[in-house]
Amino acid sequence: MKNLAQKIPENIQKALALVGEAADELNYPAYVVGGFVRDLILERDRGFKDVDIVCVGSGIDLAHKAAALFKPRPKVSFFKNFGTAQFCFRGIDFEFVGARKESYQRNSRKPIVENGTLEDDQNRRDFTINAMAICINQEGFGTLVDPFGGIQDLENKLIRTPLDPDITYSDDPLRMMRAIRFATQLNFDIHPVSLQAIKYNKDRIKIVSQERITVELNKIVESPIPSIGFKHLFKTGLLKIIFPEMTRLQGVEEKNGVYHKDNFYHTLQVLDNLCETTNDLWLRWAAILHDIAKPPTKRFEEGIGWTFHGHEVVGARMVPKIFRKLKLPLDDRMKYIQKLVALHLRPISLTKENVTDSAIRRLLFDAGDDIDDLMLLCRADITSKNKQKVQRFLDNYDVVKEKLLEVEEKDRIRNWQPPITGEIIMETFNIQPSRSVGIIKNAIREAILDGIIPNEYDAAYQFMLVKGAELELTPVG
Ligand code: ATP
Ligand code: MG
Repeated sequence: MKNLAQKIPENIQKALALVGEAADELNYPAYVVGGFVRDLILERDRGFKDVDIVCVGSGIDLAHKAAALFKPRPKVSFFKNFGTAQFCFRGIDFEFVGARKESYQRNSRKPIVENGTLEDDQNRRDFTINAMAICINQEGFGTLVDPFGGIQDLENKLIRTPLDPDITYSDDPLRMMRAIRFATQLNFDIHPVSLQAIKYNKDRIKIVSQERITVELNKIVESPIPSIGFKHLFKTGLLKIIFPEMTRLQGVEEKNGVYHKDNFYHTLQVLDNLCETTNDLWLRWAAILHDIAKPPTKRFEEGIGWTFHGHEVVGARMVPKIFRKLKLPLDDRMKYIQKLVALHLRPISLTKENVTDSAIRRLLFDAGDDIDDLMLLCRADITSKNKQKVQRFLDNYDVVKEKLLEVEEKDRIRNWQPPITGEIIMETFNIQPSRSVGIIKNAIREAILDGIIPNEYDAAYQFMLVKGAELELTPVG
């Protein structure tokens, strides 16, 4: 029998020994279970901040008894209805629950729960790699209890359910998302029988709340290689249910011998590329959505081929509906993504040789502080298989970056406000807020961005007088 005591970080080992002592006093068998055990064996140190403890007995009683042995004594919170308790000690979250047996009804993923044995408790867990337990009682401290070959599956990098996957996924369809999420986070395979069962049960996902689905989806997006998860979601048919706009990107059409690329696999490539340079969830979402309007804007034009005119504009407009459906935040984070989608073709036009300062200034003005993120997205968007071509495009972007820096240095256009405000315009011509104020303000901004006048107060003031005269306004005083 395997003993893992030595693998456990010392501070947690000490804490678990105290919990074990409390369990001995209560005469409860007690175990640490779930993700902690999995990550311990994988040596996947993510800080080990969550420690789940199962006892054969009352989890709430064990938590209280254990807390009394800790110095300083942590405050226990507990939920009588769920039979769970929790305390935090030196930044580590200890969760307690009694071993349970679960049975499911067809229309809900919430089981009927009764007290059970350790075996019952391991049976109800989602995957073999999450169903291992380590004894924490004094006698046998550190002994691994692995009834389903979780260790073997960790070695083989395999996601597999302890029981019949058809029943496991049907009982709680969220597990389908979790299977794909763990496969993506850990870069594991999903057992073929399991994968088949997900395909078969895909429609059951409809009984799961969108919030829970999206938590798993975001964990996929935050993984090192998110395409692993999206390919599974696509092939199992889940993606079509939860995010149909994305599945529409898939496929290649041919006309007169002319093909376009498969925009689904292109998007995944862009996403994976971007993930090498950023962990930012929202920038990653921008990659997922950058070409989302290619299907609705696709045309075949004689003599030109396939075009997707305006897909960046239409795409930005599609974002709110998608975000609402996925219950993603409808705040500045969404606006940020809309902006990146809308602007994602602009840096390409700046790679042309005789690009003007004013075009550069405009992009700086439109992108503001998000210019660097936009450039990361654009670099990730190069997915040619031709290495030389990729290098040439990347070099072009390096030139754009230099030009951006140069113009920024000169004109400080990022987060920029024109030197003449609406107030100044109203005072100068002694007018109320009106259309004329807007027209003049706009004209000044455009003139500066176009380089017609320098970005200075005096020049802008003179320009304001000219524009005012055109509108038959006269300055007072
Ligand atoms: P993470 O690193 O994401 O926290 P985890 O394995 O700790 O991974 P949790 O969601 O925190 O996952 O759940 C803790 C444990 O509870 C899991 O390891 C698993 O044993 C069990 N579990 C969680 N959700 C389910 C579920 N839907 N069905 C069955 N067992 C589950
Ligand atoms: Mg956890």
